[in-house]
Amino acid sequence: MNDIIEQYEKYVMPTYGRQQVAFVRGNGCYLYDEEGNAYLDFVAGLSINNMGHCHPAVVKAAQVQLAELINTCNLYYTRPGGELAQRISELSLGGKVFFSNSGAEANECAIKLARKYGRDLLGGDGSDSGCGAGTASSDKHRIITLENGFHGRTMGTLSATAQPAKQAPFKPLLPGFMYVPPDDINALKTVTDGGVCAIILELVQGEGGVYPLDQEYVEAARKLADEHHALLIFDEVQSGLGRTGELFAYEHYGIKPDVMTLAKSLGGALPIGATVAAPEYSDVLGPGMHGSTFGGGPVPCAAGLAVLNELTAPDFLTSVQAKGDYMRSLLEKLKVEGLVTEVRGLGLMLAVDLPEPKAAEVVAAALEQKILLNNTSDSTVRFLPPLVVEEGMIEQVVEFLQTALSS
Ligand SMILES: *Cc1c(COP(=O)(O)O)cnc(C)c1O
Repeated sequence: MNDIIEQYEKYVMPTYGRQQVAFVRGNGCYLYDEEGNAYLDFVAGLSINNMGHCHPAVVKAAQVQLAELINTCNLYYTRPGGELAQRISELSLGGKVFFSNSGAEANECAIKLARKYGRDLLGGDGSDSGCGAGTASSDKHRIITLENGFHGRTMGTLSATAQPAKQAPFKPLLPGFMYVPPDDINALKTVTDGGVCAIILELVQGEGGVYPLDQEYVEAARKLADEHHALLIFDEVQSGLGRTGELFAYEHYGIKPDVMTLAKSLGGALPIGATVAAPEYSDVLGPGMHGSTFGGGPVPCAAGLAVLNELTAPDFLTSVQAKGDYMRSLLEKLKVEGLVTEVRGLGLMLAVDLPEPKAAEVVAAALEQKILLNNTSDSTVRFLPPLVVEEGMIEQVVEFLQTALSS
C-alpha cells in the first residue's frame, strides 16, 4: 500500500487531500485493500457507485460492449447512445440529451445552451455593433447561481460555483455570473430580469454540505424564470438518479426544470455526463456548436442502461427512501443526545453537523474502524452510501458515530 501512495505523491499532482488508503477491489458496499481488509463504503465514490461497487449487471453490460465496440467518436451512430438518451428523456424532461464525460462537462453544455438560447431569443446574429463580428456578448447572457453551490472545476463551471475560496486562485473568471444566497426569494427577484438567460440550482447542495432548498424558493425560481424567459436549470449531478429516494430530486418538489444535468452515478462509475433538455430547448445547440470526442461512447452508455434498469425496478426507489428515513431517524437520536447539532438531507443523501469543528477527525477515526465517510467542511459529515446499502450497515455506521462523538 505504501508504494502506491508514494508513487502518487511523486508523480500525481497534489490537487486532492487523499485518505491514506489504497484499494484494489470493490464489491457491493465494500472496498478492499491489498491485504484484503474490507471497508464499509459510505462515500460511494462521491455518489458514483450508487449501485454498489462492480454491480454484476453493470459489469456485464460494460464487458459485453467493451468486447464488441469501445468507441467510434461522434462522427458515427452507435446503438447504446440513442437507447440511453431515449430512456433518460422518457424518464425525465421528454426532450433531447447531450452526452459528455463528467458533471462539469454536463454543466458546461448547459451554460452554453443557455447563452445560445439568450442570443436566439433577442434575435441577435452574434455580432454586436462596433465590436467586431462575434466578439460581444448578447444582452441576455447573465446566469444566476447560488452561494455555496458546486457545479464543477472547469473555468465555466467554476465561474458558476459561488465559493470564493475555490474561485480566488483562478481569476479572472467567465463574466456574466451573479450569485445569490439560497432560499432568499427577494434576492433572487432583485437580480432576475430580462438580461438573465438562466438560473442554475442544485436542489440539494451536495458539496456545500447537503442543504435541500425550500419548496417555496424553488417555486419562486420557476415562476421568475418563466416571467423573464430565462431557463431554469437543475444540476442533478449528485442529487439525481435515485440518490434522494426519487429518480430525480425535482420530483420531491413537483417542479420540472427546462434543462437538467446528470453525471456521477449514471454510468455505474464509468465516466459519463448528460445534459437533458425539455423539448422546446432540445435544438438550441445545432451542428458544430458543441462536442465531446469521447462523449456518449457505447461502453458507459451500455453501463448507464443497466443502471437505469436497476433504478427503475419495482420497489427499488421505495427501498432507498425507506433506508434513508431509517438512517435519518437514527441520526436524529444522536441529535437528541446532543452529539450532533443538525441532521439534513433527502433519501440517502444525508449529513450531520457537529457541535465542534472535528469532522476531519471523525472521518479519520472512521477509517481506523474501516468505515469510509466524507466531510464537506470542518463541522459537517456527509453520508452517500450505495443505494443498495443494508439496514445493518446503516446501524454500524451510526453506532460508530455515537461512540466516536461520545468520547
Ligand atoms: C460532482 C458535481 C459536479 C462536478 O462533476 P465532475 O464529474 O466532478 O465534473 C457538478 N455538480 C454537482 C452538483 C456535483 O455534485
